[in-house]
Amino acid sequence: MKTFEDVIDFHGHACPGLALGYRVSAFALRQLGERSSDEELVGIVENDSCAVDAVQMITGCTSGKGNLLFKDFGKQVYTFIRRTSGDGIRISVDWKAPEETEEERTIWERYSEGDRTEEVLKTVHSRKTKKIEMILCAGDEELFQFLRAKMELPGEARIYPSIRCAQCMEKVMETRARVKDGKIVCIPCFEVLDE
Ligand SMILES: [Zn+2]
Ligand SMILES: [Zn+2]
Repeated sequence: MKTFEDVIDFHGHACPGLALGYRVSAFALRQLGERSSDEELVGIVENDSCAVDAVQMITGCTSGKGNLLFKDFGKQVYTFIRRTSGDGIRISVDWKAPEETEEERTIWERYSEGDRTEEVLKTVHSRKTKKIEMILCAGDEELFQFLRAKMELPGEARIYPSIRCAQCMEKVMETRARVKDGKIVCIPCFEVLDE
């Protein structure tokens, strides 16, 4: 199993969102079994936050492979389904960060206004670190609610033939091509022609 350190390495920094994604992913694998080396596990994420990088690293559900689907719902909800059995889990993150102290609130305001003095950076960093530690140490029940069920699989990742755009001459997947003035074009060329 990949560690939180591996996830930080992939993502580029440590942050609370990443820690939540890590916990969600580790929990999902404990429930559904091993990491997806190919496409046997399908993930559906309902936001595009830092957490999604942890999901990709830990569960092996990746957007490039087509077994990670993004729904732009702005919700901290993560669903995983095992292809062979239809066993699924829907995890809804419901974690409340600890109340900020008066001092932290003031510092945060200064940070938002662009203050990058050492004092401000230190406080912001230590609050972030505190949150990450809390998330990593919390019990599952403090972090999320979940539902286990048999679930419907979204469609398989498909590869479509490419055709050539009549405008820029670059290749484009057939299903993404548009027709403009009787010519087959890609979306960027279609939008430019449209102006
Ligand atoms: Zn991040
Ligand atoms: Zn084009």
